[in-house]
Amino acid sequence: MNLFGRESSRAENRFETWLKRMHRERVLSGETQPTGPCPDEAFLRGLARRAKSISLSDPRIDHAANCANCMNRILAMRQKIRAERRKLAFGLAAACLVVIAGMVGWSRYEMHHRQTIASVAPVSATVDLWNTGTYRGEQPAQLQSVSLPSAPVRLTIMLPRFSSPGQYLIAVTRDQNGNGVIAEGFASATASNGQERVSLDLDLRSAKAGEYFLSTTHEQDQAAYYYPLQIKELARP
Ligand SMILES: [Zn+2]
Repeated sequence: MNLFGRESSRAENRFETWLKRMHRERVLSGETQPTGPCPDEAFLRGLARRAKSISLSDPRIDHAANCANCMNRILAMRQKIRAERRKLAFGLAAACLVVIAGMVGWSRYEMHHRQTIASVAPVSATVDLWNTGTYRGEQPAQLQSVSLPSAPVRLTIMLPRFSSPGQYLIAVTRDQNGNGVIAEGFASATASNGQERVSLDLDLRSAKAGEYFLSTTHEQDQAAYYYPLQIKELARP
């Protein structure tokens, strides 16, 4: 029987229970008759630790299993070993918590830091739609490298030729049907040098880098015009 070999902890616990019960019963009934002298402390400690170096055919194991003295010593040692293991595990868990807390704290600081920078300085950007068609049904010409950063953007749009004055709804959307709105806002068109332009702040931080659409909708027209737009990761300093 593999009394002191390494087993699953469940088997160990079962064995331990059985051992304690047997030990108690034997001591109470005076049945225990250990053979040979009590082994030294080091051997008992090896048994308590279930040291692999101990041969199961060693007669001292037989003695220890039948001697009240040795059994008591082993059980006391095991309790101590378990307490030490618990302490070690607790220490490791505490160290992990400290590391995790540190990482969470750092990432929060980083995020806050970045948001602070971003809210202090929105990125200025101008999109020139002057030469794109505005006639309904006409596909807008492919824009020349219109890209915005994934950041709070102070956007100025030069509206297409023949655009009407008034209020515009400006939006950045996932698709050409107005779905997946990333950011939107109203802005009044102002004319300068015969060009209508709108300016507004759009927060594009929630947008991952990729293909989007910039749309303009005039308050009285209600037809939205979509222009392909690329959002790029904001280069961090
Ligand atoms: Zn003994």
